[in-house]
Amino acid sequence: MKVQLLDLHAQYENIMSEIKEEMDKVLAEHNYILGHQVKDFEATVESYLKSKHAIACASGTDALVLALRALNVGHGDEVITTPFTFFATAGSIARVGAKPVFVDINEATFNIDADLIEAAITDKTKVIIPVHLFGQPAEMDKIMAIAKKHNLKVIEDNAQGIGSKFDGTYSGTIGDIAILSFFPSKNLGCMGDGGMCLTQDQQLAKDLFQLRKHGENPKYIHKWVGYNSRLDTLQAAVLNVKIKYLEGWSEGRRKNAKLYYEKLADVKEIKLPVIHPKATTVYNQFTLQAERRDELMAFLKENEIGCAIYYPKPLHIQECFNDLGYKEGDLPISEKLAKKAISIPIYTELPEDHQLFVIEKIREFYQK
Ligand SMILES: *Cc1c(COP(=O)(O)O)cnc(C)c1O
Repeated sequence: MKVQLLDLHAQYENIMSEIKEEMDKVLAEHNYILGHQVKDFEATVESYLKSKHAIACASGTDALVLALRALNVGHGDEVITTPFTFFATAGSIARVGAKPVFVDINEATFNIDADLIEAAITDKTKVIIPVHLFGQPAEMDKIMAIAKKHNLKVIEDNAQGIGSKFDGTYSGTIGDIAILSFFPSKNLGCMGDGGMCLTQDQQLAKDLFQLRKHGENPKYIHKWVGYNSRLDTLQAAVLNVKIKYLEGWSEGRRKNAKLYYEKLADVKEIKLPVIHPKATTVYNQFTLQAERRDELMAFLKENEIGCAIYYPKPLHIQECFNDLGYKEGDLPISEKLAKKAISIPIYTELPEDHQLFVIEKIREFYQK
């Protein structure tokens, strides 16, 4: 039996006719750039997440750059974030000329350890970027309190967590700005690249709209240099169909997670994901901490079970950040979990017999 880590075709089959219909409309209208579908999608996200403003753009990475620029982050500024994330989080900080400052993670949740943030604040710190990793929000209550106390801004990297909640509030609506990604493997994925900024602040929303279109306002008048970073109308058309299903898909992921918790709880060599009591996760990944991780991974691959390591090398020890002066051992929890993390299939349409096979093979591996 071949088990995929993520099967996009299974999702597509269920909504194919709707998607084609909406794409056909764009093809007939030729409104490829900022057609009404983009505005419709922004409005839908605003009402779904109860966010005052949503600004669609070309990718989650671009959304991070736009957010940092809107908060005037640049040379000489420091931005605190986690080293245990997709590269774009820290890459974007460097791209606007600022310095990423890495704070170690919480061993239970993989998210930035909020209790370590204050010690990393200097007079150059401007922003904190928590990442809601694997779909689980970071500790936003503590992080917002620290930001307030030190007069810092917060950008939520919610690329993996659309629909998740912290203390009953949708993540992405708590910080000053939040970003979303619609990369195909995210919980709400389009058919290419796509992203979005969310904010509750009207002035920031205005600035973000300008920045995504060359910093232009009004037409051909430029107070600052922006980007060409728009969500394609075709992608917005796809997302307008998919977003109607998102809550159901998140529920499906949580249901699959429940089966893993039931059937793997007694395997001492693995630690199942720990969810913070105030968090509602959407399980973009279901990530175990496994003893003999590399051997387990090889065994699962031999048995044609899709699995992956997110993330094998923390960002503070990536070559491109050598000049920041970190060395191995500086952020021990991140380094330890990079050697233990393994993500197994959790997508909504995962057939139950496939999931039971994954469970059986994991159990078999540790009984050997
Ligand atoms: C995917 C991702 C991004 C970047 O999104 P893209 O749309 O691929 O540019 C940023 N941060 C995190 C945590 C991500 O998972």
